[in-house]
Amino acid sequence: MRFTRLRLNGFKSFVDPTELVIAEGLTGVVGPNGCGKSNLLEALRWVMGENRPSAMRGGGMEDVIFAGAATRPARNFAEVSLAIDNTDRLAPAGFNDRDTLDIVRRITRDAGSAYKTNGKDVRARDVQMLFADASTGAHSPALVRQGQISELINARPKARRRILEEAAGISGLYQRRHEAELK
Ligand code: ATP
Ligand code: MG
Repeated sequence: MRFTRLRLNGFKSFVDPTELVIAEGLTGVVGPNGCGKSNLLEALRWVMGENRPSAMRGGGMEDVIFAGAATRPARNFAEVSLAIDNTDRLAPAGFNDRDTLDIVRRITRDAGSAYKTNGKDVRARDVQMLFADASTGAHSPALVRQGQISELINARPKARRRILEEAAGISGLYQRRHEAELK
């Protein structure tokens, strides 16, 4: 599974539709302070199912919607889509029938988030599980936020264990056990 394209529309400072092509190899994003580099990485986390507003540097999830600027009114929704190359057929079962996976998350003011994979409505949990099983995802240790290295050094053992479990790709199993116990 390889991420190939990220599209943003109304997400944070990306008020106009914006596309980031992720070519094979290393991609660098450079620009002056405040131009939106961290917002791009947050868009990636968000489309993968991140549900903690604090991880988006906001007070509530609707804070990811473009809030308006001197010359532009605020938007009512934000949408991010992520295209994944699945020609290696490593996507988890249920998502593994195509060469390309397209994941879309959209949030509308007062109506919350909705997700689609390849045009079909899915639950947040489905998207979170897809990435948890693929050892990546919104909480993945492979996505290193600004300031996260020092957090990691100071983390308590339990928090550090969660990071290792996510890296090992077993965090989806905990969620499934928890759900099985509730049934
Ligand atoms: P640095 O180099 O300092 O790390 P950066 O390129 O990572 O900067 P970001 O933190 O991604 O920059 O972008 C911050 C900008 O995004 C700020 O100008 C902020 O006003 C804007 N921003 C964040 N949320 C929204 C929103 N909901 N609506 C409009 N603009 C937003
Ligand atoms: Mg930044």
